[in-house]
Amino acid sequence: LSILNSARLIRGGIMSSRSVSTLTYIELDRNGQITSSALSSLAASRKLGDSIDALILGANAMKAASDLISSGNTNNLEKIIVAESPIYDHTLPEYISPLICELMKGSKYSSFVMASTEIGKNVLPRIGALMNTQPICDITMIHNKDTFERPIYAGNVLATIKKDGGKKLITIRASSFPPVVEGTPERIPIEKYSYTPEKDVGIRWDAENLVTNKRPDLASAKIVVSGGRALKDKKTFDGLLGSLADVLHAGIGSTRAAVDSGLCDNSLQVGQTGKIVAPDLYFAIGLSGAIQHLAGMKNSKVIVAINNDADAPIFQIADYSLEGDLFEVVPELTKKLKLM
Ligand code: FAD
Repeated sequence: LSILNSARLIRGGIMSSRSVSTLTYIELDRNGQITSSALSSLAASRKLGDSIDALILGANAMKAASDLISSGNTNNLEKIIVAESPIYDHTLPEYISPLICELMKGSKYSSFVMASTEIGKNVLPRIGALMNTQPICDITMIHNKDTFERPIYAGNVLATIKKDGGKKLITIRASSFPPVVEGTPERIPIEKYSYTPEKDVGIRWDAENLVTNKRPDLASAKIVVSGGRALKDKKTFDGLLGSLADVLHAGIGSTRAAVDSGLCDNSLQVGQTGKIVAPDLYFAIGLSGAIQHLAGMKNSKVIVAINNDADAPIFQIADYSLEGDLFEVVPELTKKLKLM
């Protein structure tokens, strides 16, 4: 708090001290805490080499700004801009996009960076349309400030994209830019930004009905245990995978076929049309390894596959391949791990 108190608070317009910089969106979770993908956005922004202004929106924005400063994740950070209003809490793009456009237009910012999360995927295309600029989405590598790499065709091709001149609107794949705390707490100015959104944006927030899960968040879990169609039914899926995940303190994932067969909720789906994960350890159990599934997990550091078909494609990318019946292998593995 003392850091926050000593921070410079400015109301109203944006003060600029350097000619070129990056505006980075700091995503907050539903409890107003900074997400790990926001820290990945900062890590990626640093690679662009310019100074960074962080943007935090929502009722908890000021508290989150002070948390960011206290965390020491302040390298290259010139200031934090906060718009403290509950209307941003549900991250409706109709409210957020015009604010970001106003900050970007005619300002010192050459790039805008946010994570390719549900929010990023929702907000960035709208900003692109408002600014008449093609967004550069889901990048996994920054070669230099104009040249980026991004996977296309479910990760089967890596496209190199170069954008000369103009402002860049970028989303980054969080798993490719691990969050690093590089600094020590510094005096970073916090600037209050007041923006009055249009009264009628044509959409309003009603309610949300969330699937709650006490397990580690799939996208940021260090270990993920994923199951496929071979798990047969919901009870078996929950029982077998749940026990293994409990011992390993792992998140649970699935294939689309498992979701479609009613074995689990679609929030667990990993892949091209699901979540992208890159944990330290990924268990692929009773799943074949279709390219659409691989697109979401092939960057996992160590992959363990359990399948009763020696020709299952998943074995081609697995670091450890266990050929056998999952209904025998998984309980035995869980039992052995419990004893460790
Ligand atoms: P299957 O392919 O049926 O594999 C089951 C595996 O279990 C087999 O390899 C089998 O040998 C093994 N098995 C069976 N019994 C046992 C046993 N007793 N012990 C051990 N192993 C056993 N899929 C995704 O996962 N994520 C996506 O995001 C996704 N997006 C898609 C997008 C599009 C546009 C399309 C067309 C498809 C998408 N799919 C996605 C679906 C994908 O193509 C596959 O159909 C799906 O991944 C297959 O799921 P599965 O591996 O669970 O099932």
